[in-house]
Amino acid sequence: IVSRESHRENTIVDIGGVQLGGNQIQVIAGPCSVETQEQMDLSAKYVAEAGCRLMRGGAFKPRTSPYAFQGHGAEGLDMFRKAASQYKLPIVTELMDARQLDTFMEYDVDVIQIGTRNMQNFDLLKEVGRINKPVILKRGMSATISEWLMAAEYIAAGGNHNIIFCERGIRTFETYYRNVLDVTAIPVLKKETHLPVIVDPSHAGGKAWMVAALSQAAIAAGADGLLVEMHPSPCDAWCDADQALTPDELKKLMGTLGAIAGAI
Ligand code: PEP
Ligand code: MN
Repeated sequence: IVSRESHRENTIVDIGGVQLGGNQIQVIAGPCSVETQEQMDLSAKYVAEAGCRLMRGGAFKPRTSPYAFQGHGAEGLDMFRKAASQYKLPIVTELMDARQLDTFMEYDVDVIQIGTRNMQNFDLLKEVGRINKPVILKRGMSATISEWLMAAEYIAAGGNHNIIFCERGIRTFETYYRNVLDVTAIPVLKKETHLPVIVDPSHAGGKAWMVAALSQAAIAAGADGLLVEMHPSPCDAWCDADQALTPDELKKLMGTLGAIAGAI
């Protein structure tokens, strides 16, 4: 279902009137995690002011350490929904367990994110395949392209064809940066599937100063959009502080993408 052979035309995924996979580059921005109502209200304001039309934020967080902040859960979705609604921004947030789905429906989450650690959680993929919400499927940190395509096929096989691929960097021998952004995956996926492809430069590089260069490379390589971490005050972020852009940096980055997209 997800292969280009089965469907020649590019698929456009509609998210509350915002189109992903069409002519316009879409940037999904926001903090790594939902912290406080004030932080989310400010974040939503800055996301909208930068010209982004979709917002991200994690309420259920897949943390390496069980002692690290795990997210506010349902309470976080409530804060996120309240903040984003003020600016009519559709919300993107990670689902870690099918038991959270009722809560996601209650807060009318617009896009479900499946994180890198769950790309091959097949039962979870089957569950999101049964519902009619757009899904961002992040690449497993050590997943091959064909494993990633098959993971998407699990979702599509259940009837949900609203799938967006997100390249977020893969594990290699290099330790200078958090992951290696696999730019090659962008033209490969555009060739192999009809579905939109976006890039998360934040979790790829792991440092805020790398985000603009990786974003620009992604758009030049044909990505349909970006998923970027931005925090009103990055040094105070509860999670992934090193890689969060400031509101000004996000605005500046947004100003550079149109010319690149227009040139290809
Ligand atoms: C995230 O986007 O919040 C996240 C945890 O990313 P990843 O699954 O790519 O590590
Ligand atoms: Mn993060």
